[in-house]
Amino acid sequence: MSGWVAIAGLGPGDEALWTGEVSAALAEATDVLGYATYTARIPARPGLRVHASDNREELARARHALALAAGGKRAVIVSSGDPGVFAMAAAVFEVVAENPDWLALDIRVLPGITAMLAAAARAGAPLGHDFCAINLSDNLKPWDLIERRLRLAAQADFAMALYNPRSAARPAGLGRALDVLREECEPERLIVFAAAVTAPQEKITTVTLAAASPDMADMRTVILVGNKSTRQVGKFVYTPRRAG
Ligand code: SAH
Repeated sequence: MSGWVAIAGLGPGDEALWTGEVSAALAEATDVLGYATYTARIPARPGLRVHASDNREELARARHALALAAGGKRAVIVSSGDPGVFAMAAAVFEVVAENPDWLALDIRVLPGITAMLAAAARAGAPLGHDFCAINLSDNLKPWDLIERRLRLAAQADFAMALYNPRSAARPAGLGRALDVLREECEPERLIVFAAAVTAPQEKITTVTLAAASPDMADMRTVILVGNKSTRQVGKFVYTPRRAG
């Protein structure tokens, strides 16, 4: 049987949110590659080799998977959420672009439920109108660009999903991001901190921008910022279907 590479999204955590297509690829796989936290979610079975690696080794992992497929293996690279959202799919294509011979391989991207959609569903419908997603990590882009995108998105009245809001290496970033939002938005703006969505430690907290503080987020939190019409009904947060 000829080899292939699938870059698969495992959703926010709970296996009930894997797609049928992802489950089928994992059932056929000879090799699974990914950050150790994500490969740990794959049940072991005879004949399945697991290659767990550090989160910073994306390009090496992509090369490894492509080489396995070239050798006839069926390799699945696993990402959390969706593999195309701040994750491995783009890293695979960066490697393919360096060496277009890899285009002869069967390469598939299998979507998953990204953190912002799982979080939005838990909260109600805060992304019910136009929205954007911004990664607050400055590992792969300068802070100035993050700040500019945040400011312009707020000025354009997009709701926002903020990924990677906080890590030990970047203690100050989220405070600066909240300061930018405070400069551009009213203090009553609704903000949802959604942590560990679908995991046993899940915690969803809704506050106003005035009450938001960086210690409400950790590495497994996605922050949803409403637009100026976002409101609450009972325990639900929603953004109306109409704007303007
Ligand atoms: N590809 C992933 C995102 C990877 S970036 C996706 O589509 O979801 C990692 C960031 O995703 C985390 O810092 C956090 O902001 C968010 N995230 C991932 N899983 C999450 C979960 N279960 N609950 C809340 N946020 C999560």
